[in-house]
Amino acid sequence: MKKIIFATHNQNKVTEVKAVFSGINIISLSELNYTQEIEETEDTFSGNALLKARQVFDIFNSPVFADDSGLTVDVLNGAPGVRSARYAGEDKNHQKNNDKLLEALYGKTIRNAQFRTVIAFKNAETEMLFEGIVEGTIALKSSGLGGFGYDPLFIPKGYDDTFAALPKHIKLALSHRSIAIQKLHAFLNPTTKC
Ligand code: IMP
Repeated sequence: MKKIIFATHNQNKVTEVKAVFSGINIISLSELNYTQEIEETEDTFSGNALLKARQVFDIFNSPVFADDSGLTVDVLNGAPGVRSARYAGEDKNHQKNNDKLLEALYGKTIRNAQFRTVIAFKNAETEMLFEGIVEGTIALKSSGLGGFGYDPLFIPKGYDDTFAALPKHIKLALSHRSIAIQKLHAFLNPTTKC
């Protein structure tokens, strides 16, 4: 079976990707005993995804993909963007990030936002980018207990509840990450370029 490295330490992401992929063996960094954190120093999602894919390719010389995701809010000129995890500080606290976002949008009526994922794939011959975007708005207050990150504030287009309040299968079907993963899967299967 073909092998491809997923350049992440996040086991939830690995499980999500493994569920979608068939006929390809997805190997995480933990499975390779690579514990080092790869610093995301670029100012775009694609830049960070490529940086991670290239770094891991250089180490293992094997086909690899990496992702970077976040929330962009139109009226905040795309913030929190690549800073989504650290919007309110280096401790990556979801509650503080959500509080800061609500504060930044206080009094704003136009609250359009997007969750975005970019996946970068790299092998010896090529580099490819796959993007997933889900459109929505930022709620006036937090609601719901599901999901993670900004899910309690994000209302996907066509729905009245946040990702955190909606049933799990709806987020799985709509999410930015699912869209990008499906695109990568379509690229790799059935004529895998590994
Ligand atoms: P990552 O690049 O996938 O690790 O995402 C970076 C940050 O973006 C996360 O720590 C969250 O703050 C935010 N984020 C990304 N995807 C989601 C999502 O599906 N729901 C909520 N927040 C997300």
